Amino acid sequence: MCGIVGYVGSRPAAPILLEALKRLEYRGYDSAGMATVSRKLFVKKDRGRIADIDRRLKLAEMPGNLGVGHTRWATHGEPSRVNAHPHLDNSGKIAVVHNGIIENYFELKKFLQGHGYRFTSQTDTEVIPNLIHHFLKRSGDLEGSVRQAAKRLRGSFALAVISEEEPGKIIAVRQDSPLIIGLGEGEVFLASDIPAILQHTNRMLVLENGEMAVLTPDDVSIKKFGSGATVKREPMLVQWTAEMAEKEGYPHFTLKEIFQQPDAVRDTLRVPPEELKRLARFLLRAKRVYLIACGTSYHAALVAKYALAKLAGFPVEVVISSEFGEIGNMDEGTAVLAITQSGETADTLKAVEAARAAGARVACLTNVVGSSITRMSDLVCYTYAGPEVSVVATKTFAAQVAYLLRLAVQLAEARGRSGPRSKRLAAGLGSMPEIMRKVLVEVEPRVKSLARGFLSAEHIYLIGRGVGYPLVLEGALKIKEITYIHSEGMPAGELKHGTLALIERGTPVIAVVTPGGMRMKMVSNVEEVKARGAQVTAIADNGKDLEGHVDELISIPHTEELLSPLLFIIPLQLLAYHITVGRGQDPDRPRSLAKSVTVE
Ligand code: GLU
Repeated sequence: MCGIVGYVGSRPAAPILLEALKRLEYRGYDSAGMATVSRKLFVKKDRGRIADIDRRLKLAEMPGNLGVGHTRWATHGEPSRVNAHPHLDNSGKIAVVHNGIIENYFELKKFLQGHGYRFTSQTDTEVIPNLIHHFLKRSGDLEGSVRQAAKRLRGSFALAVISEEEPGKIIAVRQDSPLIIGLGEGEVFLASDIPAILQHTNRMLVLENGEMAVLTPDDVSIKKFGSGATVKREPMLVQWTAEMAEKEGYPHFTLKEIFQQPDAVRDTLRVPPEELKRLARFLLRAKRVYLIACGTSYHAALVAKYALAKLAGFPVEVVISSEFGEIGNMDEGTAVLAITQSGETADTLKAVEAARAAGARVACLTNVVGSSITRMSDLVCYTYAGPEVSVVATKTFAAQVAYLLRLAVQLAEARGRSGPRSKRLAAGLGSMPEIMRKVLVEVEPRVKSLARGFLSAEHIYLIGRGVGYPLVLEGALKIKEITYIHSEGMPAGELKHGTLALIERGTPVIAVVTPGGMRMKMVSNVEEVKARGAQVTAIADNGKDLEGHVDELISIPHTEELLSPLLFIIPLQLLAYHITVGRGQDPDRPRSLAKSVTVE
């Protein structure tokens, strides 16, 4: 989820690694560490800021001309010294840094324990050095052993491996987490992204999925770790500045993170089925279940309410955390699922405290391992969206929705209701990252040009039905947060109960026409606002039938209704982003807002 660096050459490695780690800091992290080799292996690591760790442990003084470094964003095991990377094998000779998630670490751990290996951390990563050692014991071939190990890993992993027995090389492996190799004169660099090493070289080789590379001071050889086939790749010359490179060429972190959503969903879907089963059992044991959250997480909880009801026939109450104390009907029969991206949201922590005091059981869903909420909960669940830099939540929303949809499938199964629909949903979820990627690329240019029409709007109304309702709440929130235009999302059926009075000639209305039983009613609501002169932009499932009935149309590929939030949220986020940029404002730094809201 976070950052890897590596150096092999003739200069002292440690200062170069330390500098490169600092350049990765913008990605967010909770711990950091380095390993170097100079005859033997040296390792220093801890939780906390790099500068503090360096002050205490003197990272830059580590000896040797070869080493690797890591900034960790914990996914398995809380931020702590033992869980920080690098991780060593039991012989203490092999060091590994890893970004990503090893989906099958539990099986591998069992297998290795069966062969006498002992584990000291709670990470998924620690299986990797030991698995390499397991193969190395028999073959004596480090590169071959890394390859054997890589073939057995499932999930996402960028790895850098060093060994004191082969002190002149770094072995790098990539699957679904980025790795870049920088070519210098008699030295080679490795990093998760370009800005970490751009000051040393702009000749870079990008490692692709399924590839591994052996780095020595004068040579880089790449092969596919599956087949062992050699890969020939010409270096590219990077023309980006460091700042452009941090954003991977996107002008803002907000846009970068909107485009990272497919990865956030893909990684979150790696959550082991046992975890979902545990959460389902936890909720099923209760007499009443509350989902509590604030802001964007609240909207994800509302999506879940629809999914849990429709798929699993499992009713839940969704309450805004700051209101929970007023209405929560809590006792030993109550289960609370608290959803917070940061795990530090004060309103949610307070509500959880009150729930626990009343005897309720609490589970949490958060994106930050070891955050405050995890220490207050009976059951802890994680989304794996990676660190979110921009203040407005985008990829964490998609990850929460993906997680909660899987929970709905699990609950349907547990309640004996897993009919064809839940099977379709379960199967469909797996292909969502790819479809999301396509939608992002297809709709962005269109949304960008449509945004021009909203630049001087004073009010924007968003309407939706079914799962479209939480989506318009979330869309309106995005618009408010970064464009500063007043926007309001509401169930389309509610228009006639009041808000319709505000719709007049030219009033901008965004209609979110999601698939499902309510679609025709939604089309009627579009006619209703159109008849009052509204300027209607429809975001519609297979929108052909709306052509000619609305002013602007963004057509979204058809999916199962409950999957549609993962696609429909994309044009809404992009619209907020492009209106903001069009108005000359900075979407990464919205006024008056903080990333994690630690006050009530
Ligand atoms: N899953 C690993 C851990 O929790 C790596 C996390 C990361 O990518 O920083 O230690």
